[in-house]
Amino acid sequence: MLRSGAPILPSDIPLRADDLVQPFRIDPFALRGRLVRLGPTVDRILSQHDYPEPVATILGEAITLAVVLAGALKYDGVFTLQTKSDGPIRLLVADVSTEGAVRGYAQYDPARLPVAGHLPETGTSPSVPALIGSGYIAFTVDQGEHTERYQGIVELAGATLAECAQHYFRQSEQLQAGIKLSVARAGHDGAWRAGGLMIQRVPPEGGYQVLPDDVEDGWRRAMVLMSSATEAELVDPDLPPRRLLFRLFHEDGVRVYDTHPVEARCRCSRERIERILRALPVSEIEEMRAEGGTTVTCQFCSAPYRFDAEELARLSPS
Ligand SMILES: [Zn+2]
Repeated sequence: MLRSGAPILPSDIPLRADDLVQPFRIDPFALRGRLVRLGPTVDRILSQHDYPEPVATILGEAITLAVVLAGALKYDGVFTLQTKSDGPIRLLVADVSTEGAVRGYAQYDPARLPVAGHLPETGTSPSVPALIGSGYIAFTVDQGEHTERYQGIVELAGATLAECAQHYFRQSEQLQAGIKLSVARAGHDGAWRAGGLMIQRVPPEGGYQVLPDDVEDGWRRAMVLMSSATEAELVDPDLPPRRLLFRLFHEDGVRVYDTHPVEARCRCSRERIERILRALPVSEIEEMRAEGGTTVTCQFCSAPYRFDAEELARLSPS
């Protein structure tokens, strides 16, 4: 059940303006939404990888989208967004845990990336057809061992990641959603920042066609107001999330709920890597032992885990 959220007053100054999910609701049509603001979180992930600008930007969007979508779900575990495709960026992975730990990485072919000057101008979302190409986008909810994994998957159809996600919701027919994403080096000292906005509604019994006209108008109005948010506003470090929501939706009565914090945190550990090594064929472990050991690097955070020959022998006794 929704608690009644607090109306936003223009003077509301939030304690925290970055790395958060701000749920909200637009009355009187009971539209639910979330505003996501990422500062140090997205800067840390993107800086850690040191990817070329177009790769970093679209990975930033994937991370923001994952946080926006995860907020729509009730789950206890990990939500993962993944694209797999034939373009210059063949893989994007972003995941977020219920506790708000966020991480992500990309795999790409540097030689196939569009050269500078052929990229969309800054301030616009990176192009899915140019950078990702054809393939699919998948959303997975993993609630741990002994539970069923939920996965939704759809072909990449859209100019931007936000459009691809909207296409997914149209296909699945579970809810209607409008999504807007922005990523830029808009922080002080050129730090990466990201913003995401999503408004959703659940179809009434009998489908959308039974809705009264004013409810339908309310939805369309919310979509128009949402798209009126500029990419710069979404990432502006000097525009607190509540003030942005007020600026966009105050005429329709926007109410806010408690925020959820997010942070850049990897869940890798030596124990997890050991489990992966244990599952490898003995022949592969033997090869590593013959080479004096191996170093496994976490794809998400680049942390190196070194295993010498003796440790490998202990993991995989032959
Ligand atoms: Zn890691």
